[in-house]
Amino acid sequence: QSPARLYRPGSDAVTLRDVAGLDEVKAELQEVVDFLREPQRYAELGARIPRGILLSGPPGTGKTLLARAVAGEAGVPFFSASGSDFVELYAGTGAARVRALFARARQSAPCILFIDEIDALARQRGVSPGGGAEEREQTVNQLLVEMDGFESAEGVILIAATNRPDILDPAILRPGRFDRQLTVEPPDRKGREQILEVHARSRPLSPDVQLADVARLTPGFTGADLANLLNEAALLAVREGLREIGWRQIALALERVASGGPPRRIRYA
Ligand code: ATP
Repeated sequence: QSPARLYRPGSDAVTLRDVAGLDEVKAELQEVVDFLREPQRYAELGARIPRGILLSGPPGTGKTLLARAVAGEAGVPFFSASGSDFVELYAGTGAARVRALFARARQSAPCILFIDEIDALARQRGVSPGGGAEEREQTVNQLLVEMDGFESAEGVILIAATNRPDILDPAILRPGRFDRQLTVEPPDRKGREQILEVHARSRPLSPDVQLADVARLTPGFTGADLANLLNEAALLAVREGLREIGWRQIALALERVASGGPPRRIRYA
């Protein structure tokens, strides 16, 4: 059985327009979108698209969102699994799950296969806590076998994410495997403003709210934190019976976030 969740392309698909900033990463991923849309153009010129793309960066910076946007933009199915779905299982089950995951993805090609927390699955030998080293090795080996055994021409593009690229088994980074590695940085002030703009699209703001000011007040916030902040402010506005989010709600939400230590993370699908 494969642990992946499947999202079919639909009208509610996330696109690259929903990902603010990160222009270089988006430009690289646009190439994957183009390939999925018109594979024959690449085949004619003998241009090979990377089989695997690794996105590295701190939590909440938009790695999952980027992978979903590639699938949404290309109109292909999106399979999502987590590296932790493949560990601490009975002997042999991790490897069997990897096999099942790839088999399922191949049947749905062209598609995006996304593995979050790839470090849980493909950790460098010796860094793993506890036992089960042999089992873990089998699981990583199966991942390598699967990656070596498929051509991107088959239309399965593997995207993986990690916040710990330093602990990855170097074998998965060899050419022909994750041969494109992209770093997803936390946003700077301009990036924060752009992220706020994306999340304000569906939220009416009163004219006293300038997103540039919010961006200035939120150094260190990730995209996930900013989405959370606007949501908290929106909840406050509802509670107060307002029709728009005002500066007061933003300020209160900021205070709440600041006093509660690091902002609480809410996942937005
Ligand atoms: P993790 O490492 O915890 O899995 P992640 O990097 O995959 O985190 P996402 O799950 O993609 O982060 O981001 C969480 C949410 O934060 C997104 O669904 C989105 O609402 C918001 N977000 C993050 N980055 C951006 C961005 N660049 N533009 C717009 N929204 C963003």
